[in-house]
Amino acid sequence: MIIVLLGPPGAGKGTQGERLAARLDVPKIATGDVLRAAVRDGTPLGLEAKAAMDRGDLVPDDVIMGIMKEALASPAAAKGAILDGVVRTTPQADGVAAMLSDIGRKVDAVLLFDIAEDELVRRLSGRTTCDNCQRPFFGREPGELCAVEGHVPTGTLVRRKDDEPDAVRKRLQVYRDQTSPVINWYEEHGPRVVRIDAIGSLEEVEARALQVLGY
Ligand code: AMP
Repeated sequence: MIIVLLGPPGAGKGTQGERLAARLDVPKIATGDVLRAAVRDGTPLGLEAKAAMDRGDLVPDDVIMGIMKEALASPAAAKGAILDGVVRTTPQADGVAAMLSDIGRKVDAVLLFDIAEDELVRRLSGRTTCDNCQRPFFGREPGELCAVEGHVPTGTLVRRKDDEPDAVRKRLQVYRDQTSPVINWYEEHGPRVVRIDAIGSLEEVEARALQVLGY
C-alpha cells in the first residue's frame, strides 16, 4: 500500500506515520527527515535546502522528486510506503503519480490530518526534536537527552529552527497557499481524501487512521 499523509505542520503526520509504518510493516518516507539529515551532514543537498527550511519555505519540487526517486527505488519500499509530508505542492502530486505509474503502482490512500490552527501553533511552539532520531517531544527542554520509557536515548533535544514563531507562521501560510490545493488535486485524480480528526491521544488518532485503512 502507498499511503500519502497530508496535513499542516504539527498535525502529527510524522508520529502517526511512524506508528502506521511499524503496524503495516512498510517504510515511512519523510522528505523533511531526509532533508534535515542532509543539512546535519553538510551534503550538497543539505546546503541547497537549508536556507529555505530555516525560513519555513518549501524546497524546490525537483529536489523533492530526486529524493523520492531514490526512496521509492529502495527494496524496502517494494511492499509499500507511508509518504509523510512528501506531497506539498500540486506539481509534486503529479510527479509522485508519474513516478509510481512508471513502476506500475499508484497511491492507494490519502489521509488528511485535520486540526485547528491555534492548536498547531501551541503544539509547534512547545516542541523539541531529537537531533538524531527526529522524534518530537512536548513539554521537554532543549539540551535534554532524547529519553523515553522503552527507548534508548540516541541524541539531544533541540528546538527546530523552523519551530520558532516566525517560521511557524510562515509554514502555516505556505501550507494554506501551496499545500492545501493538493487536497483538491487528489479529490480530482483519486484516491478519495479521508479526513482524520487529529486531536486526541496518539492511540486514538492511530485507531482512526487504521480504521479508515481497513485494519
Ligand atoms: P517537515 O519535517 O515535513 O515539517 O519538513 C521540514 C521542512 O523541509 C519543510 O518546512 C520544507 O522546508 C522542507 N520540506 C520537506 N518536505 C518537503 C516537500 N515535499 N516539498 C518542499 N519542501 C519540503
